[in-house]
Amino acid sequence: MKSILDFFQSNITLKLFAIFVSLSLGGPVSAQEFCQQNFINYDSFFEVFENLPYEYPQKYKLEIAQQGEPVLRQIATPLPLQFIEDERIQALIDQMEFTMKKAGGVGIAAPQVFIPFRLLIAQNDVMINPEYTPVHPGKTLSFEGCLSMAYCGFVTRYRKIKVSYTDRNGRRIRKTLRGFSAIVVQHEVDHLNGRLFSDGYIESYRSYLARAQSFLKRSSTKRLEK
Ligand SMILES: [Zn+2]
Repeated sequence: MKSILDFFQSNITLKLFAIFVSLSLGGPVSAQEFCQQNFINYDSFFEVFENLPYEYPQKYKLEIAQQGEPVLRQIATPLPLQFIEDERIQALIDQMEFTMKKAGGVGIAAPQVFIPFRLLIAQNDVMINPEYTPVHPGKTLSFEGCLSMAYCGFVTRYRKIKVSYTDRNGRRIRKTLRGFSAIVVQHEVDHLNGRLFSDGYIESYRSYLARAQSFLKRSSTKRLEK
């Protein structure tokens, strides 16, 4: 008996049809189309892009936006994948890496250097258009600082996340992160959404304390019951 797969493989017309469907569904889109699909104003995107320098002076540290700058409150724009290989984006990534290291940071997001694009560096990873989902709702307390802020504070973050992004070579990456690496990504993605860690930190610290107190209460009651 012939399986349906055999039939499909032996039929050249069907094969050609499959190739045609895959090309028409997943074929490359132009930057304009990408902007249209993602509700991005192509003109304003291109204005920022066009003004990026091709190269920076050697050992040039970019200015880091400080709390209060409107760029830190903007929702950053997705970067059309066609632009990743452009010298201007590659130069920007190099300069962001240099700036982050010079400033003693472990992560930096493009809005922090006044470029409202969805691009960030988290430790050694360059992430373009990153998205994450928590693997489970468990959260941990994190003591954080930020290159754009003068003080540190407590926030709660997911312990384990799944992140997907495009790297600086245009490769699509998916991975699971936990602990500190997961925290850095959550902090930097917040920057792409116009959020600073101080927005939620008092609230999350309070709710963490409340949970910790009720946990202690429950466990002490259990101990008493024994
Ligand atoms: Zn930050």
